[in-house]
Amino acid sequence: MIIYDIVIIGAGLAGMRAAIESSKKANVAVLSKVYPTRSHSGAAQGGLNVAIDPEDSWESHMFDTIKGSDYLADQNAVEMFCKEAPSAMYDLDHSGLLFDRKEDGTLDQKFSGGASFPRNCFGGDLSGHKILHTLYEQLLKSNVKVHNEYTVTKLIIEEGVCKGVVAYDLRHGRFELIRSKSVILATGGYGQVFYRTTNDAINTGDGMALALREGISLQDMEFVQFHPTTLYGTNLLISETVRGDGGYLLNKNNERFMSRYVPSKMELAPRDIVSRSIQTEINDGLGIDGKDYVYLDISHAHQSGKFDITQRFPQIFEIAKKYMDVDIRENPIPIQPAQHYSMGGVKTDMMGKTEIEGLFAAGECSCISIHGANRLGGNSLMDTLVFGKRAGNTAAEYSINTKLKAMKSNFLEIEKKRIRSILSQEGNESISEIRKQLRETMSKKVGIYRESSPMKEALNLIKKLQTQIQMITIKDKSSVFNTELLDYIELEYLLELAEIITIGAINRTESRGSHFRNDYPQRDDENWLKHTLAKKCDDGSIDIKYDKVYITKYPPKERKY
Ligand SMILES: Cc1cc2nc3c(=O)[nH]c(=O)nc-3n(C[C@H](O)[C@H](O)[C@H](O)COP(=O)(O)OP(=O)(O)OC[C@H]3O[C@@H](n4cnc5c(N)ncnc54)[C@H](O)[C@@H]3O)c2cc1C
Repeated sequence: MIIYDIVIIGAGLAGMRAAIESSKKANVAVLSKVYPTRSHSGAAQGGLNVAIDPEDSWESHMFDTIKGSDYLADQNAVEMFCKEAPSAMYDLDHSGLLFDRKEDGTLDQKFSGGASFPRNCFGGDLSGHKILHTLYEQLLKSNVKVHNEYTVTKLIIEEGVCKGVVAYDLRHGRFELIRSKSVILATGGYGQVFYRTTNDAINTGDGMALALREGISLQDMEFVQFHPTTLYGTNLLISETVRGDGGYLLNKNNERFMSRYVPSKMELAPRDIVSRSIQTEINDGLGIDGKDYVYLDISHAHQSGKFDITQRFPQIFEIAKKYMDVDIRENPIPIQPAQHYSMGGVKTDMMGKTEIEGLFAAGECSCISIHGANRLGGNSLMDTLVFGKRAGNTAAEYSINTKLKAMKSNFLEIEKKRIRSILSQEGNESISEIRKQLRETMSKKVGIYRESSPMKEALNLIKKLQTQIQMITIKDKSSVFNTELLDYIELEYLLELAEIITIGAINRTESRGSHFRNDYPQRDDENWLKHTLAKKCDDGSIDIKYDKVYITKYPPKERKY
């Protein structure tokens, strides 16, 4: 058995930031199911928001974030976030982050959607990659122990206290008990619940599902962000900053159709609005060649000499060339909306604490809530840094002032028994088929436009698939590198989270931010200005409660751009 003060599950930006902070005071381990620099944070292109220009202010950042959230964000948390963002940015800068600069040497910034000031700092279109590597260098310098390719399958929670985890060590093929005084969840999003997604195959919402199984509340799970511009067919992201640099959205008539939806902001309206506008064009037969995509055109910026696209957007240039054979210096990019981000997650306070003593959370798997019903582009990377640091600090303070609590049950044996029973079940169902059915249904029926009866159909299917999964035979019975077993475990998570997302969406009979109901197209503050809290009961049923939204400076009003 291994013992640490703190175990951090996840080596993306939130996990690494928490580890660097907490290791100043405590004995820390990071467990990651992939090598840290393969974490999905590395795929982030656009950059992160911070009010550091003398003409800008944290108040303006705060207001944009709250308006963008359709007034569902907790304003006390957003205020703290916007105030702490500058020091988080300078921490990175002083650690050697290679971001773009202006001629005077200060950090360059540009517009992102829903922002009233150009406050997005960026490193070309490789922002996430650059931050991830900068933090990894700091992690290597620290005394944090990193366990690579360790997949946590169980949180140890006994008598209301978190006491460690059980993890599958892929390389050595064994399940291990890892005891600790505290655990930080930093496991990222659940994009794989949806068929069309910008998220990687590893984004299966593990931390949220593990918490749900322990009776911990997931907050606002019905709020799923659909990014407007992903490469047609592959759904690889085409960053919002392409529009921040002047990219146009065009329908089959070569019309900049955003002028009909949000003339004041055009292509730089918030993501929920732009995604719906694109989807409406497609539904109305105005997609290119009548198909389900429109064009994003940035070629004019290259041709006019504004910048060299291959320098400004090297990754996007390569992606479009490789996957669609489109040279974006000369031609528009075929794009369509796809799932991108989870506004919901494990209910967490501003210090990173969850409902369970000794369990903390940060990053995309948590819900604090600073993004409310719709996250602004550039606010998630900053979220991982600000709240990763906070969670790390809180967990360290807790751990150095706490004794390791005795563990009464044999959690390792209980978990091994559960895994043995998965390996011994038999039937003709297949992991890939169930996964495909789930994902297609979620994209189709719980997607950008929602309605009661398709969502109820989706919920029925999810329940059916939850039974069918027990009829899957895992053919690989070996212990080492059993990725088939992991696929099964992840499929269980996806099904559990899909259920929570769908129940929350069916219940919320209004439209707010990313959650748009054709049958309830208006926002309804009187009945729905509240957070959804979903808990799993012992009998497997889902208990839904609601919680108040913190309104401090900005009373809700109509969200007009
Ligand atoms: C393509 C793309 C582009 C984006 N661009 C931007 C942008 O420009 N600006 C912005 O603000 N936001 C952006 N976002 C959102 C942002 O990148 C993410 O929300 C953020 O990076 C998530 O960081 P994280 O640390 O919470 O999770 P991740 O980086 O996803 O890390 C999760 C970690 O958890 C580990 N893990 C998961 N499950 C387990 C388990 N069971 N056991 C052990 N380890 C586990 C993984 O191995 C990984 O290390 C983008 C998102 C995508 C998909």
